[in-house]
Amino acid sequence: MSFLGKVVLITGASSGIGAATAHRLAKQGATLALSGRNVENLKAVAKDVGADKSFVVPGDVTKEADTENILKNTIEKYGKLDVLINNAGILETGSIENTSLEQFDRLINTNVRSIYHLTMLAVPHLIKTQGAIVNVSSVNGIRSFPGVLAYNISKTAVDQLTRCVALELAAKNVRCNSVNPGVTITNLHKRGGMTEDAYAKFLEHSKTTHAMGRPGQAIEIADAIVFLAGDASSFITGVNLPVDGGRHAMCPR
Ligand code: NDP
Repeated sequence: MSFLGKVVLITGASSGIGAATAHRLAKQGATLALSGRNVENLKAVAKDVGADKSFVVPGDVTKEADTENILKNTIEKYGKLDVLINNAGILETGSIENTSLEQFDRLINTNVRSIYHLTMLAVPHLIKTQGAIVNVSSVNGIRSFPGVLAYNISKTAVDQLTRCVALELAAKNVRCNSVNPGVTITNLHKRGGMTEDAYAKFLEHSKTTHAMGRPGQAIEIADAIVFLAGDASSFITGVNLPVDGGRHAMCPR
């Protein structure tokens, strides 16, 4: 129960990696603030992890007032914040030839600007508790793949943000790291426009694009997030940790 007495705010807790992280942390005794836009899904996750251990704090992280409320309501409810998990994110496909500025702005606003804003608001509270930040980036932040240009750029920015914040807050004993998942089975790709059929083919293809011969499960990403959020990683900061079955290390040959 290494998170007993710790308050953890998770964005994107209504689905996929965020929901899996909520489950893992609740098992380790954490008290959770669960954020996302889909209130029904958030309530279902809260019920699963235990209503006494969780608090639903809905909001759209691209709306400044919502993000302010997410942080404010969490502090009002629990009086402190020990861990911030910036997990909410979206995927859209497109190349330099066909990604509109509107798409670019949406990806940057959702995947980067929201993290900047929420982190900025949370830092004073994290300094008080000597807490930790875990950002959910992607192998796309480390490596370059054609056809997902704006998403790649957004995740590279998350990695740089992670390292800069880590250095800026290290002397204050606040750690900041990211996990960089490979393909993970969640709703992300289908919400990003993939049909069921295309998604099935994409997962099949993932067997060849990941050294370990398979895509990941959300719970495998959650375990790495929990590691970076907790005392087991007390001397680790500024790391962009691939959790991708070896995908980041691969080169075509
Ligand atoms: P899901 O689509 O299953 O979950 C995404 C979560 O982000 C949802 O809870 C969603 O909330 C939330 N979200 C999206 N936009 C907003 C917004 N504007 N405001 C508030 N919440 C928002 O995908 P994953 O679990 O896979 O995604 C989690 C993170 O993991 C993302 O940052 C993604 O880029 C990253 N990732 C995922 C990979 C994968 O293969 N799945 C690989 C590498 C990285 P709601 O539904 O309530 O709107």
